[in-house]
Amino acid sequence: MNEYDFSNPLTFAGLTGLLFLIVALRYVFIAGIFYVIFYVFNPKGFDRRRIFNGHKNSKQYRKEFAWSIFTSLLFAIAGAAIIVLWQNGYTAIYDDIDAMSWWWIPLSFLIAAFIHETYYYWLHRWMHRPKIYRWIHKVHHDSHVTSPWTSFSFHPGEGVLQSIVIPIVVLFLPMHYWTIVGLLTFMTLTSAINHSNIEIYPQNFYKHWLGRWLIGATHHSLHHTQYRFNFGLYFTFWDKWMKTESENYVSNFKKHTS
Ligand SMILES: [Zn+2]
Ligand SMILES: [Zn+2]
Repeated sequence: MNEYDFSNPLTFAGLTGLLFLIVALRYVFIAGIFYVIFYVFNPKGFDRRRIFNGHKNSKQYRKEFAWSIFTSLLFAIAGAAIIVLWQNGYTAIYDDIDAMSWWWIPLSFLIAAFIHETYYYWLHRWMHRPKIYRWIHKVHHDSHVTSPWTSFSFHPGEGVLQSIVIPIVVLFLPMHYWTIVGLLTFMTLTSAINHSNIEIYPQNFYKHWLGRWLIGATHHSLHHTQYRFNFGLYFTFWDKWMKTESENYVSNFKKHTS
């Protein structure tokens, strides 16, 4: 791979532009599928699984969409930074699939997700300090009843803080570049699941060996309404370990999946 020419800002802008299209379209596509299925195609069919009843709020959706598109730009800048660092040999990213054992692909995915989870949980708790909250986190909580469009609806300050973690992880954790693409797509997909306001997981999933560790719409909706609980991103373990999981979680989950 050719070395990246640091002296050419146009190349960086071009790279950012291309990644922006990919990140924004991925958001529109994934959130759009959830929106069409749960809000347009058959909204009545999901009434029991709807966590909070509320009429469609087009004004809120437009705001969420605008913030999310701006966040996509911040994520694209972080992605362009990863590629530049990679091309200049500063990262542990590898492109030859045989360079590491096959099992390193899922294991590195899980390690990176665990680091991301840990970073986000503590960042999120910090962002709930009153002064910080008003400054950068309130935008996300303006969506009291969430929608798939809430997925990336962040203040730019929060967007920057969220975007720096993966570029740091790839400096030391060997990851195949497709594993990174997979993790970022998983992030977009789980964010749409957690904000869709529809519980998509099956009955009793809250006590399933895997399900008990996964955040879903019921779990994260309680964060948007109760504020003091359920700070996790993908997984529930930090909330369980730090005793910040809402005691209403199980009863609410049962209610929406019975
Ligand atoms: Zn929050
Ligand atoms: Zn949220």
